[in-house]
Amino acid sequence: MGKENTMSEYHIETTCVQGGYTPGNGEPRQIPIVQSTTFKYATSGDMGKLFDLEAEGYFYSRLQNPTCDRVAAKICQMEGGTAAMLLSSGQAASFFATFNICETGGHMISSSSIYGGTYNLFAVTMKKMGIDVTFVSPDCSRAELDAAFRPNTKLVFGETIANPALTVLDIEKFAGAAHDHGVPLIIDNTLATPVNCRPIQWGADIVTHSTTKYMDGHGSAVGGCIVDSGRFDWLAHADKFPGLCTPDESYHGITYAQRFGQGGAFITKATAQLMRDFGSTPSPQSAYLLNLGLESLHVRMKRHCENAQAVAEFLESCEKVTWVEYPGLPSSRYYALAQKYLPNGSCGVVSFGIRGGRKAAEEFMRHLRIAAIETHVADARSCCLHPASSTHRQMTDQELEAAGVPGDLVRFSCGLENAQDLIGDIAQALDKI
Ligand SMILES: *Cc1c(COP(=O)(O)O)cnc(C)c1O
Repeated sequence: MGKENTMSEYHIETTCVQGGYTPGNGEPRQIPIVQSTTFKYATSGDMGKLFDLEAEGYFYSRLQNPTCDRVAAKICQMEGGTAAMLLSSGQAASFFATFNICETGGHMISSSSIYGGTYNLFAVTMKKMGIDVTFVSPDCSRAELDAAFRPNTKLVFGETIANPALTVLDIEKFAGAAHDHGVPLIIDNTLATPVNCRPIQWGADIVTHSTTKYMDGHGSAVGGCIVDSGRFDWLAHADKFPGLCTPDESYHGITYAQRFGQGGAFITKATAQLMRDFGSTPSPQSAYLLNLGLESLHVRMKRHCENAQAVAEFLESCEKVTWVEYPGLPSSRYYALAQKYLPNGSCGVVSFGIRGGRKAAEEFMRHLRIAAIETHVADARSCCLHPASSTHRQMTDQELEAAGVPGDLVRFSCGLENAQDLIGDIAQALDKI
């Protein structure tokens, strides 16, 4: 797992480029790809200490690998956390982050406006594991939020900018409610990235990412990340979190919260138990590619946001477009929240509705030349998607509405191309319907 180092005193741009890895004299300038499943030890006793978590080091890449750890350490610094881990996907990150503290019999509260895959994970798969979830509107009042808590509630979950609804979460409101009820707030910061928002500064306790999106940014490697703020006092709520606050018999009875403290307990448990047992580990090659993306994240996010702002403003002027949602538009319901949480820009994704609904949306997309139809989002190349007929097709109309993904919604992910070219492409496709 990655640990914080001195890089945190620099601005985010410097951390993007140089965080996580400082080579010593004569060592490789770029993060080495340690393509090895196994690590060698002189005695069984040496290795035994690692197994018992008594010493730090590597023994098997399913649990930890030096390449992955260096990239995790960079993301940890970017988010301002105390420990972090990489995973094989954003889905794995969402599952590990929640299941690490919410087991069978537990209850979670989640914003209803979240990524479709996360919705499915919570509402269907974790439900089968005996975990209940209550979905609340991201726009709910504090009283409505308070009413969702139960004695067995273990966490609150939301997305900084929801994919694809583009709702902006009032992180302070959700953090305040979570903390008053003695549980942590977990924030999926995928679309905003730490370049545009650092949820820990606003009270989030755990931050998750699908690194597949802007962090990688080139459509090259699926991945996920979990960052711990180190701020949540597990032992102060020990009755709610026995997994962290009582002895783990599979590690000779160590108690994570005591042994690794507030800053390290969460990630150590998620690595030692969940990664050991589920094995959702990224390859060192993928971690290396992710790091190449991180090196330019701050440069790319700026352009993604500029392009999206220009495209959103153009769409608002189009007669064939019924509505446009982009947090950077003064007409957006989320403009004020975006000004507060995302003052330097939100993301490159614009959602809008086309007159004529589902059929017209599909036709529009067929005529696009630059933007390709893909399930992907947040890529250097522009792409677009009609969620109701693809990624969200398992959801009922009612669920779609609650998730902020109406049937006519087109999600347009602005890449790094020229803004006028993107606008021209959209204009010619609209002309054809
Ligand atoms: C894509 C995405 C995920 C899932 O990530 P994968 O890397 O595809 O598993 C989770 N949350 C958000 C906001 C996403 O956009």
